[in-house]
Amino acid sequence: MSVAPLYLEPRMEPRMASLLGSAAFLHTLVEALGSPLNLVLPEQFAENAERFRSVLDGSRLGGRVYFAHKANRSSALVRRLTATRAGVDTASLSELQHALAAGFTGDRIMATGPKDPEFLWLAARCGATVHADGAAELEQAAGLVRRYGLPRLRVMVRLSGFETSGAKTLARRSRFGTAMRDLDRLLDVLERHRDALDPVGVGYHLDTTSLDEKAAALEGCLRAMEELRSRGFEPRAIDAGGGYGVSYLARAEQWERYTSELTQAVMGRRPPLTWGGHGYGLRVENGTLKGTLSLYPAHRPLTGPAYLEELLSRPAPGLGRPLGTLLLEGLYDLYVEPGRALTDQCGASLAKVLEVRPSDTGAHLVRLAMNASDVGLEDHGVLMDPVLLPRDGSSAGACRPDGGGPVAVHLLGNLCLEADLITRRTVYLPRLPRPGDLLAFANTAGYCMDFTATHAQQQPVARKVAVHQSAPHAGGGAWRWCLDEQYWPTTRTGDDAS
Ligand SMILES: *Cc1c(COP(=O)(O)O)cnc(C)c1O
Repeated sequence: MSVAPLYLEPRMEPRMASLLGSAAFLHTLVEALGSPLNLVLPEQFAENAERFRSVLDGSRLGGRVYFAHKANRSSALVRRLTATRAGVDTASLSELQHALAAGFTGDRIMATGPKDPEFLWLAARCGATVHADGAAELEQAAGLVRRYGLPRLRVMVRLSGFETSGAKTLARRSRFGTAMRDLDRLLDVLERHRDALDPVGVGYHLDTTSLDEKAAALEGCLRAMEELRSRGFEPRAIDAGGGYGVSYLARAEQWERYTSELTQAVMGRRPPLTWGGHGYGLRVENGTLKGTLSLYPAHRPLTGPAYLEELLSRPAPGLGRPLGTLLLEGLYDLYVEPGRALTDQCGASLAKVLEVRPSDTGAHLVRLAMNASDVGLEDHGVLMDPVLLPRDGSSAGACRPDGGGPVAVHLLGNLCLEADLITRRTVYLPRLPRPGDLLAFANTAGYCMDFTATHAQQQPVARKVAVHQSAPHAGGGAWRWCLDEQYWPTTRTGDDAS
């Protein structure tokens, strides 16, 4: 069948492009370790941490970049980070234990999120900074410090419900943090526990792409710092949380074309672009388009460190001067907690093709040795094409001898479940895959590769391997690998060789 392909090509920086260009290496790995298989790139991770850090340096701000651990469970990534200037933001007892075992000391660990007593105790015991959700957590923490004779605990308070002073924007509702209007009560708690708790500062984490909302939140934090000072505290840091984002696609025009064609398909003006005509949040009622697109904005012009830089150069909505300048003048440190953005270009997920067959929709069905929970693209609303790695080493881009050219396929998972589709999108590949070929999903290290992985139906969960090149810099040398749990920062330099 001839189709006008709607490609969504993944954005790949040189290291990722080199890795996914090494088909023979990747086939060997999957033969040895099975499918699915996850790859992580510790060197890229360290480089990303430095890129974020250089935004702070460029604004002459002190502070720290904390990796939001929940984005990836890898040991290699967390261990590699210990050899940088970054810290780690943990959100559970196990993540905290993992960070400690990787070599982080308490002074570079943040404990965020809802805390059970054990998590709070270990955080207090190891001298992590406790980012408290509210008054109850502060009370509990103070109780632990006194009962166990622990050193005065560094705490931050998470704020929410920011409103801009001028034009009223609706404050985003969050189940986390303490509303700005309740700050006074929180400060009463801190005053009562002055001996046990050291309030380092305040922070927020907003799950939004909106710079305006973040600028309002950052300004709200600056005001809260003044409140703390007026109560005789000496706060010194503001935590701007995460949410700097990733651009998954190489080309803006492919994304724009895809989303407008999807709208047309939902309106019934062209054949469906998805399994069963799924609309990704869009639907038609009485001939008009309803709903909103529930997809991650897969092509974004401003993400990661550049997004942070833009935030700092924005004028504070009320105070008027750039937020970075205001931080500097207050002599405040800036903490950031990127998750997804710090793992950008740091991982890929491989799946072996098991079966290819035609279907009555016109698209071929391609069944993979992987299921939807192994690569949470659909869960996170991320649309991007996999890279086809033929088994025989022929170029994936080449047209087939029978003149097939680009084909539409549905990617099916390995569960005995109707809903197990790797993506509900109809995917276009440069040619029809064959059993034994690999599909490589680029850039899955942030939330996609292990956040949702389960043992459903006792299918194997992907193993994870750390890959690095024999020469130290990007583009340098042959690819090498070890199991994720075998990787330490010395692995890459050969310091571990006897
Ligand atoms: C999830 C989370 C982050 C990371 O968010 P990203 O969007 O992955 O950058 C940072 N801080 C907190 C408190 C979080 O819950």
